Amino acid sequence: MVVITIDAILERAGEYDLSPTEGLLLLKQTDPSIIAEIRQAADKLRNLQVGDTVTYVVNRNINFTNICEQHCSFCAFRRDSNSDGSYWLDGEQIRAKTIDAVERGATEICMQGGLNPEAKINGKSLNYYIKLVEIIKQEFPQLHLHAFSPQEVQFIARIDSISIAEVITALHSAGVNSMPGTAAEVLDDNVRSVLCPEKINSATWLEIVETAHKLGLPTTSTMLSGHIETPSQQIAHLEKLRALQQTAIKNNYPARITEFILLPFVGALAPKPLRRRVGRDQPVLQDALLLTAVARLYLGKYIPNHQPSWVKLGLQGAKEALTWGCNDIGGTLMEEHITTMAGAIGGTCMSVQDLQNAISELGRPYQQRDTLYKVMSGKC
Ligand code: SF4
Repeated sequence: MVVITIDAILERAGEYDLSPTEGLLLLKQTDPSIIAEIRQAADKLRNLQVGDTVTYVVNRNINFTNICEQHCSFCAFRRDSNSDGSYWLDGEQIRAKTIDAVERGATEICMQGGLNPEAKINGKSLNYYIKLVEIIKQEFPQLHLHAFSPQEVQFIARIDSISIAEVITALHSAGVNSMPGTAAEVLDDNVRSVLCPEKINSATWLEIVETAHKLGLPTTSTMLSGHIETPSQQIAHLEKLRALQQTAIKNNYPARITEFILLPFVGALAPKPLRRRVGRDQPVLQDALLLTAVARLYLGKYIPNHQPSWVKLGLQGAKEALTWGCNDIGGTLMEEHITTMAGAIGGTCMSVQDLQNAISELGRPYQQRDTLYKVMSGKC
């Protein structure tokens, strides 16, 4: 019988692909001295893979509507169209936010929204989404548009009775430059049946992201952690992301996953049933940090960029995560609604100076990047 030891795993981290059993063994550790060794191994691997520099992106979120036909159990953002607090930005409002973002130095607009069945032009959902893209890209073709999750892509395909590939191709041609890897939550259909029963299942999420890669649209990848999922389900999620990237590499697809972002669950203002079941309002930082380190070790050479969420963890928590395997502190966002409406304490906007200061306090250099991790010149 082969006995797996933590030391043996950590000594060879980065040289081979951890098995799910090994990943789970790391994730289940509770001894502070062993957890410290896992942190060190993740930090060392980060340094080997991408160096000491911490990157950030100057971007703006635009959540064009919170009207949504679905009812995810963690979501405090969604509204019915006739409810208090529902909103739906018009073209002029989106344009004004984009102009403001450009004036503040943004290189990226990140656009996502609720699934609003009324959002159509000439009876077609796709026409509406293309119009959103055009509002931004016709005036600011230089902006990187990181837009529309796999769930939104499937929503358009379903409403218009067209294929996923047709939707992605049309959005890409209109000017979408990359796809957020959100709506992944945890890629386990039992977890999804509680968290987001109306959303696409795991297989469909993976199929849509693989299709994006095939069609030349890069994606990010995420995990919503710290609610009802088990450590085994967390590792299985990482395994699926790693396999997805391995498939893209093996088949030489023109696009890949650019980064992994851990999104710890914030329950403070989330709908009560899930909040009660989880039993806490804010993420447990130590759990998020251990998972951050294990994600670095598990995703290994396949996904070298790792980002914590300052919205979920606060800037101090995100700064801490930079010593647990992360190499990027994310974006300025300029306005964050989705997690803030769930009671997150991290804030809705971060100045470049705030991000740079947090990185400098760790004694590490900082560097502005674009969405696809190309270094922006003269900003260091
Ligand atoms: S998470 Fe997205 S799809 Fe789910 S209810 Fe909220 S806005 Fe709708």
